[in-house]
Formats: sequence, structure tokens, C-alpha cells
Amino acid sequence: MKLLNTILQFIFPKRCVVCEKHDDQNLCADCLKEVPQVRNKKSELVFSALPYRHPAVKYSLWEFKFKNNPSAFMKLLPLVHDVLIDELTERSIFNNFQNPLLVPIPLHKNRHKARGFNQSELIAYHIHKINPDIFDINETGLIRSKDTEPQAKIANRELRKKNIEGCFEVLQPNAFHNRNIILIDDITTTGSTLQEAMKVLKKSGARNVYAFTVAK
Ligand SMILES: [Zn+2]
Repeated sequence: MKLLNTILQFIFPKRCVVCEKHDDQNLCADCLKEVPQVRNKKSELVFSALPYRHPAVKYSLWEFKFKNNPSAFMKLLPLVHDVLIDELTERSIFNNFQNPLLVPIPLHKNRHKARGFNQSELIAYHIHKINPDIFDINETGLIRSKDTEPQAKIANRELRKKNIEGCFEVLQPNAFHNRNIILIDDITTTGSTLQEAMKVLKKSGARNVYAFTVAK
């Protein structure tokens, strides 16, 4: 298999998904430097790092989520982390004696089992790993107890909101009580999933709840 890969690599060398140069990398260093950031409004509780329409972002998330290949995504990760720090600084979230708590948006256990991993959990894990002194993490206190239709399959905003209603449950209210929480997800469109999770965490005593996604 390794030999086959080497031969295939030789015949069809990898191209950068942005500039299409044959340099044997899915995302070359020059293009990585050019990846733009999302401009978030400082008043928004839901904010994002990168524009999904950019080919490097689209490719990285697609490979990560559906092909279990995080190699391109890992190149974007330092940028994603830096945007998060900037946004939290702007929102004065660090003016507090407790570290912000990263909480990944959970998958229902059936979907988790089918995919084999939760991409949001891995994103939160890697951000925490870059900066363990600044971030705390909790991956088990919030669960998805209702297996809902994927939001992407529902076109209407109102129906999306209804679809997701009541799907989250807090298992460890003590873990969230009085904390500044940052929900982590890979991508947001209308934000209804994040809004619902924010509502549930607020109800269980969280101080401030923000949501941060890699792309939008
Ligand atoms: Zn390139």
C-alpha cells in the first residue's frame, strides 16, 4: 500500500488546492499565508475565524469531516486559534479570574458512532492543546439527547430552529455554573444549533456563553 501510494504520488503529484502548483502539498505555504479572516462584529455572541467559501477552508473542513483527514485543517489551526484569542480579547473575556471553558457542540451518540469521531470535539481539543494555560475544556457535560435531522438538509430558518429545539441536555450543571463558556463548532450557517446550546447552558447557570466556529 505504501509503495502504491509512492508510485501514485509520482504519477499524480499532489497539487495545492488554491494555486494548483505541484508542490506535493494539499495547501502550500504561500497560499496558507493568504487565507483571509472573517470580520466579526464585536457585539455578536457567535463569531467565526475563516470564510467557508475560500477554497483552502472548504477543502480542509471537507477532508477533515467527511474523509477523516485533518492534515490540511491542522495547517489552518494556528490561524483559527489566533482569531479566537483576538476575538475574546476584544470582548474582554479574559478580564476574569477564571479561564474560559471550551465546550464542543456534541453529536448524538448514533451519529458519533456512525462517523467515528466528533469534529467539534477534536477542534476544541486542539485549540486547548495549543494553549492549555488559557483554556479549560469540558467535552462531556453537554450532550445531544435527541437525534435530529441534519440542519443542512432543512432550508427554512424557522424549521431549523424547531428541528433543534430541546435536543441538548446538560449532564454536569456544576461544571458550567458561573463560567464563561465558548461553544466550539466547525461551521455555522444560520446559527440555530449554537443558539439552542447557548440557551441551555445559560439556563444551567453559565455566566456568559459565546460561540466560535472555524468557518462561516
Ligand atoms: Zn498554493
